[in-house]
Amino acid sequence: MSFADLGLMPELLRALTDAGYTTPTPIQADAIPCVLAGGDLLAAAQTGTGKTAGFTLPLLQRLKTTKPLHPGQRARIRALVLTPTRELASQVEDSISRYGKYLDLSSMVMFGGVNINPQTKRLRERLDILVATPGRLLDHAGQGTIDLGGVEIFVLDEADRMLDMGFIRDIRRVLALLPKERQNLLFSATFADEIRHLAKGLLSNPTEVQVTPENTTVERIEQRVYPVNRDAKRQLLEKLIRDGDWSQVLVFMRTKHGANRLAEQLTTSGISAMAIHGNKSQAAREKALSEFKANRVRVLVATDIAARGIDIDGLPHVVNYELPSVPEDYVHRIGRTGRAGAGGEASSLVCVDELKLLTLIERTIRLKIPKVIVPGFEVDPNAKAEPIRKPVVRKPQRKPDAARGPRRDKPMVKRDR
Ligand code: AMP
Repeated sequence: MSFADLGLMPELLRALTDAGYTTPTPIQADAIPCVLAGGDLLAAAQTGTGKTAGFTLPLLQRLKTTKPLHPGQRARIRALVLTPTRELASQVEDSISRYGKYLDLSSMVMFGGVNINPQTKRLRERLDILVATPGRLLDHAGQGTIDLGGVEIFVLDEADRMLDMGFIRDIRRVLALLPKERQNLLFSATFADEIRHLAKGLLSNPTEVQVTPENTTVERIEQRVYPVNRDAKRQLLEKLIRDGDWSQVLVFMRTKHGANRLAEQLTTSGISAMAIHGNKSQAAREKALSEFKANRVRVLVATDIAARGIDIDGLPHVVNYELPSVPEDYVHRIGRTGRAGAGGEASSLVCVDELKLLTLIERTIRLKIPKVIVPGFEVDPNAKAEPIRKPVVRKPQRKPDAARGPRRDKPMVKRDR
């Protein structure tokens, strides 16, 4: 089956070709026709199943091919996607931009912990699709800076995590701000009673789709963990690249500084490498990317944020030089390999500091990743874990939420439980 068989429009098919996706995943095959037909959807799908494209693609098409259901005086937000975390919100918005790049629709991502003013300014402009975490969305609603009266498609992503994080009341508050007549899509990895209850009140006559863990994109990628001492990672990476004769390797790092340093060190050792990260100009990033795609540079070292929104998929090798601190980032990193039909390998170099992160990732993907010990790189059994230093994030100019107590995007207490 192809994406064209699902009834997607040429502009979306073109964007999918650019992304390197040829075959819909099971959740996409089930969800896309249902959403295109305008029905409600209840989907049991975890990260890694391709669920994001499963709702993003038909959502874009519906907005493009139908007239606004609730036209207002000004252009109004027509689709709202709620996610539990800022990382997920960014990833969803990234998918919307990628798949919608040949459609004239505008989108925005909104979350707390950053200055609210640029968001308020952006909300005054044309906006078709909003991806938001509940807390900041409600802040805007409270300040009267957002109009949700035009929402005709509502997506609740990772509903189980939303509930775990205590967002149920916030979700209900958001629902109260939406017009009654709308299409609702609910995604959740698990279906506890609470989710069933929420779904019952939210969805009308929904199509139910379910995918088994064997169908996740993650399952189709050959994943390996290479245990290694903290200070032997670079040598191990060089060995893997040389011994395996890897030609196109995307390496993920947590920090910009680390990415720069690794690219320099690899180049010095005779392995051509370039880094892309937020401090590089757009031109420098594009140059690195085109050199990499043309096979003139063997290794591209990237940070998660820099890798978002660029078409580098279907790669033979993705390496996590450092594990990401958010398990979903792991899935999206390795999703850059293992294009349908073509095999791909995702290798993670894991030192003692990262063992907890590894457990978290394995729990999220519901898989135990096989470990490979490379002779000469055996780990020191007495090594003690050191705290992982967080990347330096530029502070927002002002702390807009501070005056109003704890941030709702990251509740400190579990409410409603
Ligand atoms: P998701 O479950 O939406 O978080 O998607 C997980 C990863 O699967 C994404 O990062 C994509 O790289 C990948 N993906 C999504 N759809 C497809 C597809 N049709 N073929 C191959 N990979 C896909």
